[in-house]
Amino acid sequence: MLREAALRVTRPRVAVLGAVYDHPHADTDSIISAVRADLGDVSHQAVYDVLRALTLARLVRRIQPPGSVARYESRVGDNHHHVVCRSCGRIADVDCAVGDTPCLTASDDHGFDIDEAEVVYWGLCPDCSTQPHPTARQELDRRV
Ligand SMILES: [Zn+2]
Ligand SMILES: [Zn+2]
Repeated sequence: MLREAALRVTRPRVAVLGAVYDHPHADTDSIISAVRADLGDVSHQAVYDVLRALTLARLVRRIQPPGSVARYESRVGDNHHHVVCRSCGRIADVDCAVGDTPCLTASDDHGFDIDEAEVVYWGLCPDCSTQPHPTARQELDRRV
């Protein structure tokens, strides 16, 4: 995959790509832990740089729902959506309901060259909707 994207094949790149495949929607810290379990000591900066290179080469997709840290996934190119749990932050893939590149034809593009449209569904995951788990809002209400 790295070669196809005209990227040099290095051990950190292979390890980071493997970690993103094994842990869909993982944040950077989880990816760093997975890479370290595989390669031993690798610096944060090295993993950040590899994630940037892989994202720019479109081998991984970076998503960042509002209020969440950046997360990475290997499922690229289909512009699928995500559903995010408001309580625990769990993320799952949601296939596009209407076909490829949904709503990419903006009603008014304001002269922008648009290449992505993002839909994020919000709600409670099955675990959180059955447990009396405080929502972020209730949590905050209790704290401040
Ligand atoms: Zn949840
Ligand atoms: Zn996804």
